[in-house]
Amino acid sequence: MTHEKIIIIGAGPAGYTAALYAARANLEPLVITGDKPGGQVSITHIVENYPGFPDGIGGPEMVQLFHDQAEKFGTRYSYDLVSSIEVDEGPPYTVKTEIGETYTADALIVTTGASPRLLNIPGEEALTGKGVSYCATCDGFFFKGKDVVVVGGGDSAIEEGLFLTKFASRVRVIHRRDKLRAKPILQERAFDNEKMEFVWDTVVEEIFAGENGVVNGVRVRNVKTDETTRLDTDGVFIFIGHIPNSWPFEGKLEMDDNGYLITDDHMQTNVEGIFAAGEIQDPVWKQVATSVGQGTAAAMAATEYLAAKEHEQKVRRPAAVPGD
Ligand code: NAP
Repeated sequence: MTHEKIIIIGAGPAGYTAALYAARANLEPLVITGDKPGGQVSITHIVENYPGFPDGIGGPEMVQLFHDQAEKFGTRYSYDLVSSIEVDEGPPYTVKTEIGETYTADALIVTTGASPRLLNIPGEEALTGKGVSYCATCDGFFFKGKDVVVVGGGDSAIEEGLFLTKFASRVRVIHRRDKLRAKPILQERAFDNEKMEFVWDTVVEEIFAGENGVVNGVRVRNVKTDETTRLDTDGVFIFIGHIPNSWPFEGKLEMDDNGYLITDDHMQTNVEGIFAAGEIQDPVWKQVATSVGQGTAAAMAATEYLAAKEHEQKVRRPAAVPGD
């Protein structure tokens, strides 16, 4: 069993940034990266909306820079997946991993992010990054003048679909019901937008590629008539919800009905000394820039928390009197 001052669970933009700040505060953080280091950014072709990179930066390159910068100041990495934490007896808290390691830590920062919910249909995985996307903000630009379909009927599908109309010549929203779940104001904007069309009561069952290995169509089925048709399209944007990666914390940390961790204005969860940052506690903004900000705040709050604890212990344990 190894004891750490602070463990950061998860290595996306929030986790790397929390590690950078904790390292520069001499906390020698250990980052347990999870099974997908870099998170959603690492599957993003190019990030063009992160300040400081006017020409954009490749997702994998950005992740490498985040990693190296935190490491330069003393961050250590363990390429392992946290399976559970114990909080009842803490602090210190116990962290267990998939490969059987057990750690204790005086503070934790949870930055495990969220994963896009997948359709789990043929073609989806193989064509991700080749016309299948889960991020309009990241990839919309590549569909200038092209035809795309959006799958889903919630706020994300409609908001991202509206964003795509800035680039695409046509955006068809394929929704499994005949009513959108999205907010009325978003629905109004979508119905008013002449580039947006709706394919109701329909599910996507397969995604096809042309000879060049890039998406060129989808097979859809009308759930009311059972009729199956092929729609030609250049891109498939899937927005059927996100799943926060909070399963190791179930029953341990407070979360909302959708599984997002609940934090206070110091990024602290309901358990003292356990902080959270990035998408695991943010169902709304979900940007690299916002996750970086939240990671910064969580690390600063954790640093203050650890300093206060240390001070408390010193006050409780008065210095030895010479001669004693
Ligand atoms: P969501 O609200 O859960 O909507 C998911 C959509 O995908 C629903 O329309 C659902 O259909 C559909 N869907 C789910 N599984 C499917 C499947 N297997 N096949 C086909 N369709 C499927 O998710 P979200 O849109 O990502 O929003 C998540 C949260 O973030 C919400 O609380 C939302 O309000 C919030 N959000 C807010 C904003 C904003 O305020 N601007 C923007 C984005 C997100 P059904 O409708 O039939 O269930």
